[in-house]
Amino acid sequence: MTSEPTLQMSETLSHEATATARGRPVLAIHGGAGTLLRSAMSPEAAAQYTNALEGILRAGQLQLQRGDSALDVVVQAVRALEECELFNAGRGAVYTAAGTHELDACVMAGDGLRAGAVAGLRTTRNPVLAARAVLEHSEHVMFVGPAADLFAARQGLEQVPHGWFGTPQRLQQLRLAQALAAGVVLDHDGQAAVINTDNAPLDEGQKFGTVGAVALDDAGHLAAATSTGGMTNKQAGRVGDTPLIGAGCYANDATVAISCTGTGEPFMRALAAHDVSTLMAYAGLPLAEAAERVVMQTLPALGGQGGLIAIAASGEVCMPFNTEGMYRGFARVGEAPVVAIYKEAQP
Ligand code: ASP
Repeated sequence: MTSEPTLQMSETLSHEATATARGRPVLAIHGGAGTLLRSAMSPEAAAQYTNALEGILRAGQLQLQRGDSALDVVVQAVRALEECELFNAGRGAVYTAAGTHELDACVMAGDGLRAGAVAGLRTTRNPVLAARAVLEHSEHVMFVGPAADLFAARQGLEQVPHGWFGTPQRLQQLRLAQALAAGVVLDHDGQAAVINTDNAPLDEGQKFGTVGAVALDDAGHLAAATSTGGMTNKQAGRVGDTPLIGAGCYANDATVAISCTGTGEPFMRALAAHDVSTLMAYAGLPLAEAAERVVMQTLPALGGQGGLIAIAASGEVCMPFNTEGMYRGFARVGEAPVVAIYKEAQP
């Protein structure tokens, strides 16, 4: 890690932490972090992403304004992100090495540390709804594989043909990832052109496209939700950090709500989301310091790339990442939503 990104990130963090009033209901969302390809970015492509994020933030803002719970708001926001093909969750999920989709999701309510999670879903249209159903209608916390789809179906959640999740762009990403893994060498320009299959502002071949939401509601409760297709070309059966409570998702009314995105394995080994909460609870660190330590020190030391979004019990918002960019935004009730992709852009 060089000192430069840390400095840039501190500036971004302090802006996000102080630019708006605290304690009012607020929602933050992300659509994944990754590598920037400026040469491939068109204003139209950037606008597609920022418009999608802004629309979801505005809908969440309305919910918070009318008094919906943080849990309702994060689940709705993540469901909308799952429905959007631009992001790697629900429809538009990446492919496994076997050419299939395996979807993971987690939901946590900071009120009572209630949680529900699912991994390896193959037919449930909205994994985040399955995670919520586990939270609300099961004595257990996590279901995996076909039994998880069955649980969701029995809860009345929509099932879709497996192929429904795929898109031509994701298939092309799988083919490229497999060609690269097999040692096929592409020249720099050729590689960039193929990887960035949909001219997205972030290089889709190196983007960790998990989606997530965190919120603080009028009653002072926090909630977090995270959903993903995982990583392109992942081995079938592999589960990442997303559905693991404390790794890719965590909420505790006493401290913070967090949703992560990035290379899952280091996030799992660091218990990244819970580590931020722990640094706040036991070391007394403010959110910005705790989050920056995990994202800029702990994770890079383990080879972890990515970022997280967080809302503290105080209402402070913080969205650090150690990659070139992260699709992200937040909205407080009564204020214009703020959306950004790259490091130097605010929030
Ligand atoms: N963290 C996710 C995983 O490892 C991937 C992502 O964030 O895009 O499955």
